[in-house]
Amino acid sequence: MKITKVTPWLIEAQGPYLDTANDNQGPRKLREYTFVEVKTDEGITGWGEVTAQSPRALPICAGLRHVSDLIEGDDPRLIEMIWNKIFRAYTYMGSRGLTTNMISAIDIALWDIRGKVLGLPIAELFGGPVREGIPVYCHPQNGSSIEDTAQHAKAIVETGQKAMKIDPFQPKHEEETNGYLSGKLSAEAENLGVERIAAMREAVGPDIEIMVDCHGRFDVPTAIRLGRVLEPYNLFWLEEPVPVESTHALKQVRENISAPISVGERLHTRWEFVPILENELADFVMPDVTWTGGITEIKKIATMAEAYYVPISPHDASGPINVLAGAHAMASVPNHYRVETHKAKLNAYDEFIDYPLDIRGDKIYLSDRPGLGIELNKEYMRAHVVAGYGG
Ligand SMILES: [Mg+2]
Repeated sequence: MKITKVTPWLIEAQGPYLDTANDNQGPRKLREYTFVEVKTDEGITGWGEVTAQSPRALPICAGLRHVSDLIEGDDPRLIEMIWNKIFRAYTYMGSRGLTTNMISAIDIALWDIRGKVLGLPIAELFGGPVREGIPVYCHPQNGSSIEDTAQHAKAIVETGQKAMKIDPFQPKHEEETNGYLSGKLSAEAENLGVERIAAMREAVGPDIEIMVDCHGRFDVPTAIRLGRVLEPYNLFWLEEPVPVESTHALKQVRENISAPISVGERLHTRWEFVPILENELADFVMPDVTWTGGITEIKKIATMAEAYYVPISPHDASGPINVLAGAHAMASVPNHYRVETHKAKLNAYDEFIDYPLDIRGDKIYLSDRPGLGIELNKEYMRAHVVAGYGG
């Protein structure tokens, strides 16, 4: 079997919605999704995903067209070899970010092909599941009012979910409109954020795990202050309190707050998790399977974390393949915490795929269909494709 073509598909479609009886969040927003189709000469096609919102999507699509030439003619069974071939071809422009984003999409598609060839779900190729269902967590709508957020949090709990995450620190500091400059947060945004978390805790009660995402936006004193002011609300973790570039900054925050720390969506490949684990800088690691290097890489990172008794919790900011690839990879992982999903119900993804995601309570259940367990709906994709980016 030979790879014949890699096609990136850039789609603009409606994002997921809560879909509960209490859903009142109004019209869904348009979101970008980037899927990758890897065709073979034997008619089996693999699907991957590397969704990244603008301005990241276009360079990734452009890069994947070059990768198509690089791996055309390769045997898709040689997943590890192809991973290394792409990685080494692009390391002169950095062995993180775009390089591993492109690898991730291809790697997931190659595992999809492998599963389809063997007639087995990807999860079965890694030793089989270690538990019934794969735990997940989701996000409440970051509502226009604090009451909205609290109501969404409560609605999520009513679906059987037990954990949720939010970035409550909006609106952003005015300097942030042009990206990170000072790492500060306005007093107004800070107070509003704390009120939002207080209302969520009040709405869901003491037994639900609440996580706060800082999106790597703050300097050290701001992050420490936020960690301390949120202490009464018993956070399950504080995520990316400082930008990814300085482990010293992360260490300072870690030593000065009580909430557990989670990092990893901006870390790529096993090598970037070495200083985190070796220096005891995080209680959880949360690489994104569509960015860090695919299923091959996230399994390696999971095993590294397992050796330190640190749980792994795949990040998700994208579409159905991100969730499925994370779930297939985590099915056999003893030290797995939860796979992130946007919403408690992911019915919006049904338009993309031929077999719905099966989320019940706080778990996703994988089908016994081969590979990822889905095919993408090309008719729907063609109707929503960004001109020039599809097949
Ligand atoms: Mg995050």
